[in-house]
Amino acid sequence: MDTIQVAVRVRPLLQKEINSGQAAQWLCTGTSIVAANQTNGSPFVFDHVYDASCTNFKVYQDLTENIVKQAMIGFNGTLFAYGQSGSGKTYTIDAMRTYVINAIYDHIRKCPSREFILRVAYMELYNEHLYDLLTNKSLHLRETPDRTLFIEGLEEELILSQDHFYTILKKGNENRTFAATAQNDRSSRAHCIFRIAIESRDREDGEDSSVYISQINLVDLAGSEKAGENSGNRFREGCSINLSLLTLSQVIRKLSEGDKNVHINYRDSKLTRLLQNALGGNSRTAILCSVSPSSVEETMSTLRFALNAKRVKNQPKQNEVVPIEAKLKRSLLEIEELKKQIEAMQKGGMPSFERKPDQ
Ligand code: ADP
Ligand code: MG
Repeated sequence: MDTIQVAVRVRPLLQKEINSGQAAQWLCTGTSIVAANQTNGSPFVFDHVYDASCTNFKVYQDLTENIVKQAMIGFNGTLFAYGQSGSGKTYTIDAMRTYVINAIYDHIRKCPSREFILRVAYMELYNEHLYDLLTNKSLHLRETPDRTLFIEGLEEELILSQDHFYTILKKGNENRTFAATAQNDRSSRAHCIFRIAIESRDREDGEDSSVYISQINLVDLAGSEKAGENSGNRFREGCSINLSLLTLSQVIRKLSEGDKNVHINYRDSKLTRLLQNALGGNSRTAILCSVSPSSVEETMSTLRFALNAKRVKNQPKQNEVVPIEAKLKRSLLEIEELKKQIEAMQKGGMPSFERKPDQ
C-alpha cells in the first residue's frame, strides 16, 4: 500500500496583485501551512509545503523524480496539479513535463542493456468532451467486452528521440493554446492529460525477455473554484459545473474514508474513468495543490481537498509481461530445479513427503 504524496505550493504574489494592494495571507513553516490571521489555530500539515521561494526543480525532486524512476521499471505514476485558476498549476506542470522527458532520457542513456519504446498522448477534457491535442480530433471512451477502457481514435505518437519528444510536446501545447483562445474560458475549465507510455526489455534476451510496461500521467486539472465541497447541491445546478472535477473531489473524499464497502463512483465522469488507476489503484500518485497567496476561501477548499487526498491509499505493482515462450522456459527451469532438489534430498537420506513407504 502506498499513500498519495500531497504537496501544497503557494506561488509568489504577481506584480498586478501587489499593485492592487493584495497581500500574502498564508504562512508556510516546514511542512505546515496556516492562514496568517489564524496563527493560533492548528496548521495544515502535508508531505511538502512550498512557499513563494520554491523552485520548479525542487517540486520535481520531491514529487516527480521517484515517479519517473519507478515508471522506468514498470510502475505506473501520476502527478496531478489541483487548485483554483491562476494559482500556478500550469506553471508547475509545464515545467514537470520537461524535467520528466529529460529524466527518462537520462535513465535510457544509463541503461544501454535495455531497449525502450516510448509513446506519448496528449489530451484535453473540456465539458466532458475528450480531444486529442496531437491531432485536434474528438476522442471517445470505449470498453472492451471485459470492461477494459480504451480511447478510440487516440493518437499515441511513437517517440524517436529526445528532440522528437520536444517537437511533439510543442505541437500539443500549440493546439492547447489555440483551443483555449478559440473557446472562451477553456484554459481554466479543461483538464489536460499528458501521458507517456513506457515499455522496455532486455536487449540480450530479445523476444524471450519479459517486458516492463508503465504509464506516466501528468495532469493539469481545471480550476477548482467551481467544485466546492458542497458538491451535492452544486451537482444539481447543472450546466456550468465541471462534472469531472466534481466527481474527482467526490471520489477522493470517498477513498479517503477508507471504507471498502462504499461504492466509488469512478464511472460518473470521464476524468475519473481515465485516471481510475491513479486514484486508489495501480499507480504511484502525487498531488500538487497550488495556492494563490492572497485568496483565503478558495485556498481553504483546496487544503481540505488536499487533506482528503493524503488519506487515499494505492496499490502500485510492477507491470511485467512475460512472453509465453519465456514463461514456459522459466517453468521448465523451475521443474528442473525442483527435480534436482528432490534427488539431493533422496540421496542425502532426507525424508521426502512424496516418497511412498515401499520405495
Ligand atoms: P493556473 O494554471 O493554476 O490557472 P498559472 O500556472 O497559469 O495558473 O499561473 C498564473 C500566473 O502566475 C501565471 O502568470 C504564472 O506565470 C504565474 N505563476 C504561477 N506560479 C508561479 C511561481 N511559482 N512563480 C512565479 N510565477 C508564477
Ligand atoms: Mg492553467
